[in-house]
Amino acid sequence: MMTGATAGPVDTARSPGAVLKTLDVRATTIDGGFWGERQTVNRQKALPHGVRMLETAGNLDNLRIAAGRTTGRFRGRVFMDSDVYKWLEAVAWEMLRAPSDELRAQCETLIELVAAAQGDDGYINSHYTVAEPGRRWTDLTHGHELYCAGHLIQAAIAYRRAIGDDLLLAIAKRYVDNIHAVFGPGRRVTADGHAEIEMALVELYRETGERRHLDLATFFLDQRGRDRIGPNRYDSPAAYQDRVPVRDATTVEGHAVRALYLATGVADACLETGDDALLKTLTTQWEDMVERKLYLTGGVGARHLAEAFGQPYELPNDLAYSETCGAIASVMWSWRMLLATGEARYADLIERTLFNAILAGVSLDGERYFYVNPLASDGEPEHLHRGGCRRKPWHLVACCPPNVMRLLASLAHYVATRDATGLQIHQYAAARIVASGIALRMDTKYPWAGDVRLHVEAATTGPAWTLALRVPDWCTSADVRINGRSIAGPAAPGEYVRLERAWARGEVDELSISMVPRLVEAHPRIESTRGCVAIERGPLVYCLEQADHPGAPIADLAIDTDARLESAWAPDLLGGVAVVHASGWEVDASAWRHRLYRPRGTAPRAARRPAALTAIPYCTWANREAGAMRVWIPRVEERS
Ligand SMILES: [Zn+2]
Repeated sequence: MMTGATAGPVDTARSPGAVLKTLDVRATTIDGGFWGERQTVNRQKALPHGVRMLETAGNLDNLRIAAGRTTGRFRGRVFMDSDVYKWLEAVAWEMLRAPSDELRAQCETLIELVAAAQGDDGYINSHYTVAEPGRRWTDLTHGHELYCAGHLIQAAIAYRRAIGDDLLLAIAKRYVDNIHAVFGPGRRVTADGHAEIEMALVELYRETGERRHLDLATFFLDQRGRDRIGPNRYDSPAAYQDRVPVRDATTVEGHAVRALYLATGVADACLETGDDALLKTLTTQWEDMVERKLYLTGGVGARHLAEAFGQPYELPNDLAYSETCGAIASVMWSWRMLLATGEARYADLIERTLFNAILAGVSLDGERYFYVNPLASDGEPEHLHRGGCRRKPWHLVACCPPNVMRLLASLAHYVATRDATGLQIHQYAAARIVASGIALRMDTKYPWAGDVRLHVEAATTGPAWTLALRVPDWCTSADVRINGRSIAGPAAPGEYVRLERAWARGEVDELSISMVPRLVEAHPRIESTRGCVAIERGPLVYCLEQADHPGAPIADLAIDTDARLESAWAPDLLGGVAVVHASGWEVDASAWRHRLYRPRGTAPRAARRPAALTAIPYCTWANREAGAMRVWIPRVEERS
């Protein structure tokens, strides 16, 4: 059983390259508020829904066939096993939040099934065992064997860290021994088409202390850009991050999820090796993403073709890919960059991505999921090559739903860290944090309100230590009070305000962040947002949805950028949200009937009539009747 300290999904307690150390897995508990509600839905609705879907879609039957317990054909795509592992990981973190005999029994049944599907040599993959026997490791570009293995390793580590049970880890280790026997220097020299094994092997090294796992991870990373992965279905080595070696890559390119899973693995390697040159290269890639290839929501992946990053500034709204898994990968990568540097910009992006790109991926009831997350929709429920406005219970490629589940279940991991000087709070949530001899109670209605109150419930008497609070990069003003008294000096957006003090029990620190709604504009080189603005309030990106504008097509609405934005609490809307009211116009497009173009100046300016605009948080769109939506709203500067 478990002894001593243990960690969440990432453990940098002993990592030489980590400026910030992750906390013990029990240190932070989210126990209410916005994220607490989401975690409750995740547990009560999403997880039971998930295992039903794994049964319906055939994931569990595939393993049963591989185990010889039933007969039949393999169903689904080659990576079906990974969804089972991600669900197991989600349940492991969830059982840490609140133990459950029922969930545990479910997990043990599945783990026993995985064990039964494991070959005598340790290999586990239901697709290759059932559908392509004798062909294992023959298609690393598309076969996803190492990808599935990576998810097994991560689930096994979660199960051990959260529950103290080695059952799944023993299975994973046997498989990893098999992988070591096949791949590495002097053996097979290659890498996988879909990164994932790398970060998992680094975490296994952290968990076991066995250096060979880190070495194999860096071995796989270093094979990229050397023409080892082979041709792929997009006929582009960039699509699979195989155009240049990892150490020479300065851009994010190709398949967005693969690119960012790879970057996450590289960041993990940096944390363990302290390789500053590699970290610098990786920082350049992160900046390429944030400065040229990122949606306002934090989503990534502009193209449906190859599910890929586009060229710089290629960020279409309606055609956005912005896969939920890409956003999750971005959080995983930024979290490791934060641990390696302590820089607030990484926590800022994590916040943006969590509240917008990721949360939009799941319905408020936890049982419907988007794969593609566009920033504009014409209201058609489904499209072939663009996102629709209806989430689905599950997908043929169901990577996103269990990925959301495991992230929400482990969200407390991303709230705070420690270093030699004290504690850092990166994300605001109703939570309790117990670490380094300190107990903090964090009360907040974030993101609806900007007040965060930190109450020192216990502190060992002794020297001063520093409580660092992130002041979000989007905020216009923030102030800090200690025991009711304002402290001198403004808290600068995009930095941590550091409060060094011999904190004592009963003391209270309060951070107040302005939540006044604001307009945002985009870089002029982004074609799809020219002449438009978007609304944000706090960390939330807003959108206009058809349901709030009966009678006026969303496409014909424009916003008056001179008019005030007003926010209001709507308790009965979408489970309770702060809406933002704006003024604008409905533009009469009837003069354009039968024509798409006309010489400029040949017709009077289109008539328009005043319209009241109501914006809702983007993360809550598509929870009512099917309808159009847009984040970027055309602006009309002059009053009529
Ligand atoms: Zn996905």
